[in-house]
Amino acid sequence: MRTHRLIPSLLLLGSLSMATACSSGSSGTAGDETAAARPGSSATASPVRPVDPSKIKGLEIVSDNSENASCAWATSYPDVPGATAAADAMKKDVETRLAAFRELCADGDVGGAELNISHEFLVASGDVLGVRLTTLGGGGAGSGLARRTYWYDGGAGAYRTALDLIDTGSRDAFLAALRTRLKGRDGTDEQTLEQAFADRSVLAGELDDMAFTADGGLRVTFDPGAVGAVPAGSYVVTLPKETVTPWLSAFGRRAQRQSVSPAGSLDLGATATPTPAVPTHTASGDDDTDCKKVKCVALTFDDGPSATYTANLLRYLAQNHARATFFTVGQNVVAHPALVRAEVRAGNEVGNHSYSHPDLTKLSSEQVAYQLNRTSAAIKAATGTAPALYRPPYGAINSTVRRATHLSPVLWTLDTEDWKYPDATKVAQFVVSKVKRNDVVLMHDIHPTSVAAVPEILRALTAKGYHFVTVSHLRATM
Ligand code: ZN
Repeated sequence: MRTHRLIPSLLLLGSLSMATACSSGSSGTAGDETAAARPGSSATASPVRPVDPSKIKGLEIVSDNSENASCAWATSYPDVPGATAAADAMKKDVETRLAAFRELCADGDVGGAELNISHEFLVASGDVLGVRLTTLGGGGAGSGLARRTYWYDGGAGAYRTALDLIDTGSRDAFLAALRTRLKGRDGTDEQTLEQAFADRSVLAGELDDMAFTADGGLRVTFDPGAVGAVPAGSYVVTLPKETVTPWLSAFGRRAQRQSVSPAGSLDLGATATPTPAVPTHTASGDDDTDCKKVKCVALTFDDGPSATYTANLLRYLAQNHARATFFTVGQNVVAHPALVRAEVRAGNEVGNHSYSHPDLTKLSSEQVAYQLNRTSAAIKAATGTAPALYRPPYGAINSTVRRATHLSPVLWTLDTEDWKYPDATKVAQFVVSKVKRNDVVLMHDIHPTSVAAVPEILRALTAKGYHFVTVSHLRATM
């Protein structure tokens, strides 16, 4: 019987910063798992071919974050045109986990834990989409590390689970091969394997993370506790191409082919791929506002860019000759680099808000550096310039975080709590009534209501004599 237990999120969050978790079940303790998960260690090298999400037409990253360290959660999943059934499956899983977590928060029962669901693309070419969601923490029973892969078969127009990669007639042989390869690994024994493999319906639930390596092998990852003791961490079994190929379903073979040699483009049979126009506004020269002489305010927008809302926000700012600062999340920057370029072109400042929005104070120094460096590299690749500023998710910062980066931290002086109150009128009224000279205002451009509040904020504050400048400009001239 599988046993769930509460694992300190401190340990688990270690694997946040890596694409694929530890490579084998050979480690003896949870601490070792974290060590193996450390970015830069050879164990983290993912043999899965990387996918450039900016090439996926009409891609939307659906994200929702709290900005509250006492109930810290950040979730994201991709919505790819055509693959609605896959997005629906991810949405359902994300919403179920988030609802359970928020209930714990409401009961005051969360004990400092955090929920973080991040995404990565495994395949996005031809008629195959493969995505992995990685869930960390969550608090309470069932908490821990869970990875699941979601597949979409554009040829059949159908959502596929990981196990659908294997032909139904070959599953016995497939399971026997997995069991043979798990035998003798540290942290598992004959009896545990016997139990894990006894109930096929339970096992099918555990076999929910499979991905093809660049050379056509199949990598199967078991979450902690699935086939061994929880502290032993994840177990990864890679079946070589020649072993697994005869057992693949027709879809599995197409997914394997796209993993080995991806086609140039992705076609999932979408009837429309909405690609919102990216604003082309170009700032005329440097901002010469002198915040010593005039009233300034720095509006800041976190967690984007959002394919759905950021373009509108940029238009509102440009129409009002206003500049702002965007603290972008790396996994959204790689999905929408053109929007980040448009932010900079219009005279705004782009800062770093980590890659997948974890509480950085729960990470090691190396992991903090990985979260920030990966994001700075994505911003530089998009805009040509690396950021100078970062804002730690949840505003959570300590000396380890500060020492891990040369970026300058930026918190805020006015928190709109716009993520909590999705009401444009309320957000606008709050800012207009509370703002003071030289305030740094915290907002989020992943919420439609926050973006909808901006025209009124700009109008009312302009009437009161305010100028809208970037954080670096404010710091340099106040
Ligand atoms: Zn945030």
